[in-house]
Amino acid sequence: QPGVDTPEEYKRTIRELISSHVKGENIIANLRAITTEPHVAGTEANRRVADTIANIWRTNQLEHVHFAEYDVLLSYPDYNNPNTAEIVDSDGQISYISEGVSKVILPEEQGAPGAGVRWVAYASNGTVQGDLVYCHQGTEQDFEYLSQQGVSVQGRIAVLRYGGGFRGNKVKNAALNGAVGAILYSDPADVARAGIDDSHVYPATEWMPSTGAQRGSIMVGDGDPLTPVYPSKNYTYRARTVQQAKDELIIPSIPVLPMSYGDVQNLLSQMGGRRVPTTWQGGLKNLTYRLGPGFVNRDLQVRIHVRSTLQRRTIRNVIGYIRGNQEPDRYVILGNHFDAWVYGSVDPNSGTAVLAEVGRALTAVINETGWRPSRTIIFCAWDAEEFGLIGSTEWVQEHADLLARRAVVYLNVDSIFGNASMYATAVPSMYKAATDAAKNIPNPMASERQANRTTVYDTWVRSFPGKFKSRPDAPDMPVPSGGSDHATFINYLGIPVIDFEYRNYTNYDTYPLYHTLYETHTLNEKILDTNNFAVHVAVGQYWAELARMFADSPILPINVSDYAKAIADVYLPDLRDALRQAQPQSELKIAFDQLNFVEKAAARLVQAAGEFEPSIDEAMEFFEMNPFDQRQISAVNERLVAADRCFVNPRGLPGNPTARHVLFAISKHDAYSGKVMPGVYDQLDDLRDAKTKAERQTAIQRLAQQISIVQYSIECAINNLADII
Ligand code: GLU
Ligand code: ZN
Ligand code: ZN
Repeated sequence: QPGVDTPEEYKRTIRELISSHVKGENIIANLRAITTEPHVAGTEANRRVADTIANIWRTNQLEHVHFAEYDVLLSYPDYNNPNTAEIVDSDGQISYISEGVSKVILPEEQGAPGAGVRWVAYASNGTVQGDLVYCHQGTEQDFEYLSQQGVSVQGRIAVLRYGGGFRGNKVKNAALNGAVGAILYSDPADVARAGIDDSHVYPATEWMPSTGAQRGSIMVGDGDPLTPVYPSKNYTYRARTVQQAKDELIIPSIPVLPMSYGDVQNLLSQMGGRRVPTTWQGGLKNLTYRLGPGFVNRDLQVRIHVRSTLQRRTIRNVIGYIRGNQEPDRYVILGNHFDAWVYGSVDPNSGTAVLAEVGRALTAVINETGWRPSRTIIFCAWDAEEFGLIGSTEWVQEHADLLARRAVVYLNVDSIFGNASMYATAVPSMYKAATDAAKNIPNPMASERQANRTTVYDTWVRSFPGKFKSRPDAPDMPVPSGGSDHATFINYLGIPVIDFEYRNYTNYDTYPLYHTLYETHTLNEKILDTNNFAVHVAVGQYWAELARMFADSPILPINVSDYAKAIADVYLPDLRDALRQAQPQSELKIAFDQLNFVEKAAARLVQAAGEFEPSIDEAMEFFEMNPFDQRQISAVNERLVAADRCFVNPRGLPGNPTARHVLFAISKHDAYSGKVMPGVYDQLDDLRDAKTKAERQTAIQRLAQQISIVQYSIECAINNLADII
């Protein structure tokens, strides 16, 4: 090409061209088009949103835009008869009824009938009455503390504060402890930290007003609960019944409703019992939080009415492509969900609006220059993520075999919910690519640029400093968890993932207006990203750059050395520490023997990965001399892709056939947290809980076996890098 002489320069030109095509005004237009009405999965409104997305993608010239439909179990409230909590006395006199609906603040954006109705999906239908117990965040430790204090939730209603984990796990813990119902609420100490008067909350700021409530799913599990492991096609036998899903605690058997802090104040202010510990005290004004059980006035109790139905409905993912011109059957997959609890302008349609623009920018450059990525880029807009990652999970289950062989990477964006910093979770083989891409994206925030942080990377690494010694320039990227659509790709198939977002600096799980009625486009445009969507643009540029790197670099930017070093230098030393703390040490010899084995294997993997690096360079040099002979780089790429697949155990974790990655899983205790070497640590948990010597021995034997299963995967990864086994 004239004026472009080295591959490096050509690459830079393509990158800069793509970046220059990502336009804030287009993202704003997409966002407004997608968020005109509430669009819960399985509804006509969400069908219209799927059509809108498909139309935008077609206009943007994505290829073969189509729908992938599944018939799955969803849950809905009674929009005409919202859920409430009441205070009743022993004569049945009602002295207080909570608001079942959040107040509309911007009528032109939020006025659809039923938009304000507060509910959580999969709550059991019914009415229950009892004394309240304040259970803080409803973690296992919180319930342990309550039982130490002699306060039981048995037969009572648990008050659960949002934050510190997935709401479904809170409800599950409450139910396991015998609660007959639960109230979820957001505390102003978490969601209105600047103060609760009008000038400090939405619409003046991003903090939650007293009438806001976080909706959400309380299913613990991924995908349609009725078709474990298999896609919910019309031919699929529904292997699990609703009753079985309840018995397995996948969906709850108790009524649950979410409340605003404005409402819950009326309940908490009447509670009796001991004062909560200082860390449990929330931010409601003039209120000393008490554990209960029940009210000071013993004649009063709380009654909750939850109207909820389970329904099988059709969901539809939107899928489109940019076909690669060299290796069309290698897939680089970009995904975001589009279903929302209400209007969804942040979660998830900030991401949806950006994804459509990424597609437009890439096709624009294809049309302008004749460049085309060598691998296929698949665009996925997932449905029913909110109910439990359902659309993405069913699609992965349907295409499991092909995806396992053909997919190179899955790049997820759920929401752009702040303007403070990039943040990502990723598997270690992605650390380098995720870091390098961010160094090439201009910083969207003027204040950061003035402070000489000129790139997205500069702010990111400052906000989340790296901990991984082998790649000191990488920002901290925790292991992927649940909570969004990347989960099934990594946990079930071992496809490497990067899940990223722009976020704020609060240590709360998410942003204050998460899953509320107030997620309409004014929040994005006037509060979160006020400079012509500069942050949304930067996320789009980063997403496009990652797509370009994975779809167009002759050698895939998958770093097996980082993977090996994470195992050898982080995961196994952490396990050794954990084993040293386990009791009784005298019985743990077989586990330590296995640990010694696996540590040596990990060192061999580090060495093998290091020795593999020259062959990567050689293949690249050969390709530069012989650009029409792809055989050497293909052989290298095969092995880079196969590295992660070695860590997939087709049997799954004990009792969980969909958790198949031996290094990473969704935590059993909190779907928002990732867990390293889940099979191993589950056995350490069992050992800690064992009551008899026989139970201990079983746990230790299983622990030793789980460590050897990790080694089995490591040996596979070593062999995978060798020419001859
Ligand atoms: N992202 C959704 C939520 O946080 C679903 C998470 C999940 O089911 O894992 O409510
Ligand atoms: Zn989301
Ligand atoms: Zn969500």
